[in-house]
Amino acid sequence: MRILVVEDEKKVASFVKMGLEEESYAVDVSYDGEEGGGLAETNPYDLIILDIMLPKKSGLSVLRELRDKGINTPILLLTARGTVEDKVAGLNAGADDYLAKPFMFSELLARVRSLLRRGGEKSPVLKFADLTMDPVTRKVTRSGVDIMLTSKEYSLLDYFLRRPNQVLTRTMISEHVWESDFDAVTNVIDVYVKHLRNKIDKEFEKKLIHTVWGVGYILKE
Ligand code: CA
Repeated sequence: MRILVVEDEKKVASFVKMGLEEESYAVDVSYDGEEGGGLAETNPYDLIILDIMLPKKSGLSVLRELRDKGINTPILLLTARGTVEDKVAGLNAGADDYLAKPFMFSELLARVRSLLRRGGEKSPVLKFADLTMDPVTRKVTRSGVDIMLTSKEYSLLDYFLRRPNQVLTRTMISEHVWESDFDAVTNVIDVYVKHLRNKIDKEFEKKLIHTVWGVGYILKE
């Protein structure tokens, strides 16, 4: 899951980025509304965390422009002024949720998870065949056996589990699992997929991650 954070207060931005990265999200940060809006238009983010008071362009303008352009990525608005007017203006402009600063990271994380879940699945636990992943406890099991994954392997598996039976190209994988400064050397993706397969498939008869030659990978039975 790849998240864009648009926030000019560097301390808040780095605190949010660090916390989300610890939760295995790929995070890009922008410090002004103009650049942030541009990034949001050109990259396939799964969620945008958008401050309202920003240099160059306000968060509300960025939000309206994105919605006008038909970009419906979930947006969580942040503001220092937790007034009812701000909240109403934000929600009217198409924000999905709203959080007043200062906030605890755990509060932010709960909103982030809830917004990412609205994509469809009712249960927060992701399942495919005998493989399960619980985003809250971060526990991954196959046939009831616990599997320990590194942070990147976890993000990668999370992406596969949210798009079962779909061919995922290396570009799609790099865009959703890595930050934008990641140098998309497809080799790196292949190495991570190999590590992931060693953990979730190697010991099991039925393989779940398959190579689609010349294209990418697919999670299927
Ligand atoms: Ca601000």
